[in-house]
Amino acid sequence: MQVVKTVSEVRSVVAISRDGGERIGCVPTMGALHAGHMSLVVDCRERSDFVVVTIFVNPTQFSPTEDLSEYPRPLEDDLAKCREAGVDLVFTPEVHALYPEGFETYVELESLPLRLEGEQRPTHFRGVSTIVTKLFNIVQPDVACFGQKDYQQQTLIRRMVRDLDMPIEIVVCPTVREADGLALSSRNVYLSDAERRSALSLHASLQLAKDRIQSGETDLVNIRAAMHDLMTAHEHVTLDYATIADANSLEELNTPTSHMVALVAAQVGKTRLIDNMVIEAL
Ligand code: AMP
Repeated sequence: MQVVKTVSEVRSVVAISRDGGERIGCVPTMGALHAGHMSLVVDCRERSDFVVVTIFVNPTQFSPTEDLSEYPRPLEDDLAKCREAGVDLVFTPEVHALYPEGFETYVELESLPLRLEGEQRPTHFRGVSTIVTKLFNIVQPDVACFGQKDYQQQTLIRRMVRDLDMPIEIVVCPTVREADGLALSSRNVYLSDAERRSALSLHASLQLAKDRIQSGETDLVNIRAAMHDLMTAHEHVTLDYATIADANSLEELNTPTSHMVALVAAQVGKTRLIDNMVIEAL
């Protein structure tokens, strides 16, 4: 496994593989790798001949009040996990390599970034779409894997790839969870034991929405209220949103459609967590 820090090194290593007729796969991450990330690597490995993992805590997707400086960066552990998973190339750039002095070009979607996460984090998705575009331009993968865990993010990336004619297959992989339902997240390390117990309310409220919709209930306003009540009954939980949206447009729904997604976000103690569950009408 090769580990490189510069754009030119990525280009020259990947070029050799591409010239040899290999299919290039890419898994963009911010590191602190866990089994969720590694499931993307496994999937990417199956779909490509040469797997590139990028590890970069992207400053432009954090707001000034967020956890950029505290974000975990266990690089040696991450590299060991990548090596074990058979990754071919890890790209771990420094911030100045991707955002040189005078950087001023961003990729921005018009409406998808405004709702849900965007309401709390107005500049977040501009940072995401910009860094993903840059990583795609650098690696030029044939296929890239993202997690369903970040539902709005994968929706936005698929839309961007379509709108900008990027010749890249986007694969969305299922959310990996702990046995008790908590979605794996690099931010779970911040949770105290008591907060971790309260964090289970995110998954519980999604499950509540799914159960009630699939048992025939059609008043989604009511179900949303029940999701709110379930989550706010737990100490340490400050709710950002708990809602049910159309799975493609992400528009909030009051009555069911055939393909829905329940989405939640909450501050648990000082840690902001998100989760979602796709719900097909029966
Ligand atoms: P991050 O390092 O948080 O930016 O995540 C990198 C990629 O891993 C994104 O595509 C995430 O959606 C994905 N990911 C994060 N957590 C999980 C999880 N629990 N299950 C599956 N994929 C995940």
